[in-house]
Amino acid sequence: MKNEEIAPHIEDITRALKGKASKEEVEQELEKWLEKYGLSLTEVKRSVVKKLGGDPQDLFARTEKKVNEITGTEKNLELKARIVSINEKKIEVEGEPKTIHYGIFGDDTGTIPFTLWEPLTEPLEKGDTVHVINAYATTWNDKPQVNIGSRGRMKMLEGDEVPEFKRTPQRCDMRDVREGMSNLIITGRILDLEKKIVQTENGEKELYSGIMADETGKVQFSAWHDFGLKEDMVIEVNGGYVRSWRGIPQLSFDENATVDKLEDDTLPPKDELEESGIMTISQLARRGGAVDAIVDAVMIDIKSGSGLIFRCPECNRVVQKSACRIHGKVDGEPDLRVKGILDDGTGALTVIITREQTEKILGYGLDEAMQLARDRMDHGVIKDELEDHLIAQPLRLKGNVTCDDYGLMLIAREVKEKKINMEEEARRLLDEVRV
Ligand SMILES: [Zn+2]
Repeated sequence: MKNEEIAPHIEDITRALKGKASKEEVEQELEKWLEKYGLSLTEVKRSVVKKLGGDPQDLFARTEKKVNEITGTEKNLELKARIVSINEKKIEVEGEPKTIHYGIFGDDTGTIPFTLWEPLTEPLEKGDTVHVINAYATTWNDKPQVNIGSRGRMKMLEGDEVPEFKRTPQRCDMRDVREGMSNLIITGRILDLEKKIVQTENGEKELYSGIMADETGKVQFSAWHDFGLKEDMVIEVNGGYVRSWRGIPQLSFDENATVDKLEDDTLPPKDELEESGIMTISQLARRGGAVDAIVDAVMIDIKSGSGLIFRCPECNRVVQKSACRIHGKVDGEPDLRVKGILDDGTGALTVIITREQTEKILGYGLDEAMQLARDRMDHGVIKDELEDHLIAQPLRLKGNVTCDDYGLMLIAREVKEKKINMEEEARRLLDEVRV
C-alpha cells in the first residue's frame, strides 16, 4: 500500500483509539499487520484497534454531519442528504476526458454544493436521498462544499429518511444571485427567450431559457416547464434555485415553482434594463460570474498574445513562433485581440477583447494592421498602439463574465471609453458601501 492510501486508515484507527495511541504507533502496528497476515483491511483495522487497547466498534463511530455543520475542513465526512440538483460535466484530467457530476445537497438544515469526482455507480437524480461516506469538504469563495473522491461513496437511500429543507423563500435581486441558492423569489423582465428540446434521462423535455433583468442586473434562466413565458413579460418566480453553468450562475425553476405574470410597469422597460447591472469586480467575484454584465474599470496591463496574433487553423489556439502547442509548425491565420487586466479598485479580472472591438479601438481593420506590421517589420507594433489607447484608460465594458479556477474572465462584447459621470459614480460607491 502506498503512503497516501494508508494515511486515511491510520487516521480512522487513531480516531477510534481516542488518544490511547499516537499516529506513529498506529502506523507501525498497522504496517506489521498488513505485512504478516492475509487479512482483509477491515479485519486488520479491527485487530490494530483491539491490540492497542481500543474498541473496534469505535472504528465505525459516526462522523456524520448535518449540512449546516460542515465547515470546509472535514476529511472524513459522512452525511445523508437529498439531491437538490445534479448535473454532468466533462473535464480533462491529464489529457484524458472524464465525466464528473456536480450539484447541490440539502437536508433540513440547509444546502451545500457538491462535486462527485468519480463516475456514478448508480443513476441518481434530483430528489433522490443519498448516504455519502468518506467525502471531504473544501471551501470555494469562502463557502464550504462537499467533494466525493476516489475513497468516497454515494449510495442511494430508500424512502424519506432525510427531511426536506424548508427554507423560508427569500427575495433576491439579480445582482445577488449566487450558486447554491434555493427557494428564491425573484422578479424580472424577460429580455430574451428561446425554446429548446433537450434530451434527459427521462426522455425529451422542453426547456425555456433566456435572460431576465431587474434594475440591479441580469441573470440567465432555465425554465423546465411551460409557464407560458413570453419575451418582455415581467414575472415573479417563486421557488427558483441557482447553479453554475459554464462558469456563470444560472437561475433554474421547474414545475415545483410558481410563476406569476406581473404588471408591466413593475420594472423599467426592456431597453433600459438592457443597460442595467453595472457590477463591481468584487461583486462579480462574490457572485461567481454574470451574463451580459457591465463593468467600469481601468485597463492596467496588456498581456503578450495581444494585438496582431496568429491562430492555428486546426484548433484556433494562438500560435507562438509559427508553432501550435498541439499541431506543431502551422501556417497561422491572422487575428486581432486584446488580453488584458482590468482593475476597478475592488478587484481585478482578465479581459478578452475580440477582433471587432479591437478594430474599433485601433480605428482600422486587420488588413491595415498586417500592412503596418510589415512596414515596420514588427508584429509588436499593434500591441504597442493598443497599449497607448487603453492603458490607464477608464472603460465601460459589456459582456459575459465567467468564473473558474483561474479566476474571473470578461469576454467583452462592447468596449467604450468612459466619460465619468460624477453623480452616477457617487451613487455606485454608496451602493457598494451599503452592501
Ligand atoms: Zn493547433
